[in-house]
Amino acid sequence: MCTKNIKRLKCCRIPEIRPEGWLKRQMEIQMEGLTGKLYQVWDCVGSYSGWLGGTGENWERGPYYLDGLLPLAWYLKDEEHWELACRFVEWTLESADASGNFGPVASRQDYWSRFVMLKVLIQYYEIKEDERVLKLFSGYFSYLQEEILKRPMTQWSKARIGDLLYCINWYCQQTGEVLKELAAELKSQALDWNEVFEDFPFVRPAEYYYSWDRLLAHYQKSSMDEVMKYHTNHIVNLTMGFKYPAMLSYFFDDRDYEEITDRGLEAAEHFHGVATGALNGDEHLAGNNPSRGAELCSVVEYMFSLQTMIEAFGRGDYGDKIEKLAYNALPATITEDFMAHQYLQQANQVLANRAERDWFNTNEESNMFGLEPNFGCCTANMHQGWPKLLKSLWFKENEHTLVSMVHAPSSIVTQLAGEKVHIIEETEYPFKNRICYRVAEGEAPEAVLRIWIPGWCSHIRVGQEGKQRRLGRSEDYVTVRGLKAGDEITVEFEMDIRQSHWFKDSLAVERGPLVYALNIKEQWKAVRKVAGVSDYEVYPISPWNYAISKNAPLAVAENTIGRVPFSKQNPPVVLTGTGKRLEGWCLEHNSAGLIPKSPVEIQGKPEKIELIPYGCTKLRITQFPYYVE
Ligand SMILES: [Zn+2]
Repeated sequence: MCTKNIKRLKCCRIPEIRPEGWLKRQMEIQMEGLTGKLYQVWDCVGSYSGWLGGTGENWERGPYYLDGLLPLAWYLKDEEHWELACRFVEWTLESADASGNFGPVASRQDYWSRFVMLKVLIQYYEIKEDERVLKLFSGYFSYLQEEILKRPMTQWSKARIGDLLYCINWYCQQTGEVLKELAAELKSQALDWNEVFEDFPFVRPAEYYYSWDRLLAHYQKSSMDEVMKYHTNHIVNLTMGFKYPAMLSYFFDDRDYEEITDRGLEAAEHFHGVATGALNGDEHLAGNNPSRGAELCSVVEYMFSLQTMIEAFGRGDYGDKIEKLAYNALPATITEDFMAHQYLQQANQVLANRAERDWFNTNEESNMFGLEPNFGCCTANMHQGWPKLLKSLWFKENEHTLVSMVHAPSSIVTQLAGEKVHIIEETEYPFKNRICYRVAEGEAPEAVLRIWIPGWCSHIRVGQEGKQRRLGRSEDYVTVRGLKAGDEITVEFEMDIRQSHWFKDSLAVERGPLVYALNIKEQWKAVRKVAGVSDYEVYPISPWNYAISKNAPLAVAENTIGRVPFSKQNPPVVLTGTGKRLEGWCLEHNSAGLIPKSPVEIQGKPEKIELIPYGCTKLRITQFPYYVE
């Protein structure tokens, strides 16, 4: 038996948190973009949706969309979209039948799409405290208790049981009920991610083990799980599966679930990670090559898994991983106006067009920007990224201790040590290193504020009561005891430029949580218009095949953040350095060719090169070959 004392944290509730500054602006752009328009332009979540009682799509897409739309509308106080989200919620709450099952009748046999809707209802309950939600949960879990004995979980439902356990645990915490029997049955039916993480079986890209075309020629899609462990090496399932051990830790103490989690994360990053924090999977695990793809759904689902893991294990380093994804991989794969997205992004992405590429099993539109490139899951699911990030910013350790974990401009109004406290986090982080915590209201001498010091940061400056201190990273948190209106605590995380090494020893440039990429001149070509929404190809009109100097210094220029935070036109930070063209490094199969092993021997004239935040680029080199001068 594991007796390890796990340190839990609790997320704050949606109504306690507000986005501010650039983050609020980013969320407004999202609502002005496709999140605000999707109901009108995309039938899958439109007025015929099965989740409104219609004859249209009745599986995961409606719930996916709501999982982002509902909290976004709430945070922005956008009544029109809040009412739209509530129409789906109302229909769902009224849809439960005598057995306890709910949702569109045509998909009643499906379990998985219900898990997503339960996550939506959790958010709705946080905001409205509508008791019908708990009633629906109670009925559905009674239904499952019987039903899964007769009709066990399979396929997507089986692979994603972690998300159902998250909902069951939430319900138990609300009501004090203990549904251990249900959790135990689900554990016995689930795809066992513990086994995967303890001895990670996929250390190479999927095509090393399987040929998709050959499998398709010989087998039904429904038998793919048996013949190629389809669900286990599916990238979105894996990023969702990271939460599975953490969710089990709420019900069972038979294993060290924290250690299992870390082994899984470490292996997945080691064999499939790229500099942006994302994991390569062009549908299935794809290895570390920066020309392979990472799916948008996997980026937002990975962020959410990490949030649930912070709650379960109280770990700030999971917050660092969220920052890397949210401030790099997420903005890079959606256009600045939030009207088009990719299915797959490449860390080294030099051409985004309709063409065959070395993906495992996605189509030739996968890296185009559009309404529904390759497959529409990301069109429905991408909306959760920014609004869910808000819940990773602030956590409660106990009733008097508040933790500022992931850093972004925001404010919180909450009860601490029995007092109402309002704290504003003023910052332009991650672009700049200074954060000011201003206590706007309250007096709580017993309250404690703990500020996570990101793992990359070796020195900080803390300012409090007019005094400045420079500290080494001897602790994980800055701890402030006692909060009262008028207090100001400033923290500056020293953001040195760092170099990290990846596939073929390629070099990435990082500063704070941001990864920097070559600023390639882009030419955009609209190639199709559906319901007023354009699909685009992006072509490079400046060279990209640079190696970067390992030892020449980079100059940093910080600019003001414009109305588009992750703007290519007006990047908030620009680094300039030197590179040399590597003539033999060319396009292969429409992507940047295999990156030469570094260090490279290179002649030629050094040129000035400009790097901007990865999130501001749509074409780029992020993992460079390097040379030593
Ligand atoms: Zn997707």
